[in-house]
Amino acid sequence: MDDPVHRLSGRTLLTAIFGDPVAHSLSPAMHNAAYAALAMDRAYVAFHVTPTGLREALRAIPALGIAGVNLTVPHKERAVRMMAQLTDEALLLRAVNCVINRNGELHGDNTDARGLEADLRAQHVSIAGELAVIIGAGGAASAAVLAALRLDAARIVICNRTIARANRLARSFARYLATRGGGRSRQTIEARGLDTLVNVTTMSAATIVINATPMGLKTGGFASLSYAATPSECVFYDMIYAREPTPFLAPPLALGRRAIDGAGMLINQGVLAFELFNGVAPPAGVMRAALMSALGRE
Ligand code: NAP
Repeated sequence: MDDPVHRLSGRTLLTAIFGDPVAHSLSPAMHNAAYAALAMDRAYVAFHVTPTGLREALRAIPALGIAGVNLTVPHKERAVRMMAQLTDEALLLRAVNCVINRNGELHGDNTDARGLEADLRAQHVSIAGELAVIIGAGGAASAAVLAALRLDAARIVICNRTIARANRLARSFARYLATRGGGRSRQTIEARGLDTLVNVTTMSAATIVINATPMGLKTGGFASLSYAATPSECVFYDMIYAREPTPFLAPPLALGRRAIDGAGMLINQGVLAFELFNGVAPPAGVMRAALMSALGRE
């Protein structure tokens, strides 16, 4: 593949990701592969931006003429207050993962829910009329709730270590459902603690279990979960992606269950971000190949 560094010129326009940490990010590999394939004089770089530097870094976007920036942990939620405009989806999710520079004004959007929904559809995972168990109550869990609602899940159970946070998330989506369905929505959302993951009654009804926490990302295992109680067709989806099966996905794989990691979600949210930043649709296959190669998975 063409090395994007060799294409830099005096007119090269930048796009970027801000995160802390950020060096592990695979977004530069995906976006630069798309720029190379489209022969665009653009480049995507990773900036290590700490929480104290976020405001200054965002201010630099118009000053430097950066076209768009992805935000990752821990900036997505704080950045909401730093945007000139927000899409309805960023407002609902209370998190921004895409900052678009529109004539010097910062517009915040969030492509995580659409990225997850697109991946689940592409993988032919059907949850319509069924129970979705979502682990976590942060920005990623909020995106998972929205994706599950759009995929017509009948019942969503949010399980989180801090139950008050799960309650807040459930309440905010209950308000969303009430306004959207005029109070007649048949979809329900419940907030629970992590102990629900060993509740046989709940787990035996689950059609999908989504991990939207960093549990298992670095060291340590996953919370106790009654994998064996789930139906044989239950799908396990980990937003974390890695070379090897994650601690959340290894047990269901051993049981012969379907297990999907977050690589497809990353690709799909990246494809949407590329279009927002550059105004053209990227070659999704090129972005996928670049990510899979970076993960050593081709
Ligand atoms: P976040 O806002 O920091 O949320 C963290 C959530 O994880 C909270 O609910 C927190 O529970 C829970 N948690 C953290 N450590 C825990 C532990 N040791 N035990 C139990 N629960 C724990 O993060 P986020 O932005 O939502 O992201 C969550 C994960 O999704 C990250 O790993 C991120 O990389 C991944 N993600 C992937 C994609 C993708 O494209 N594949 C996109 C977005 C996010 P408390 O409320 O109790 O603190």
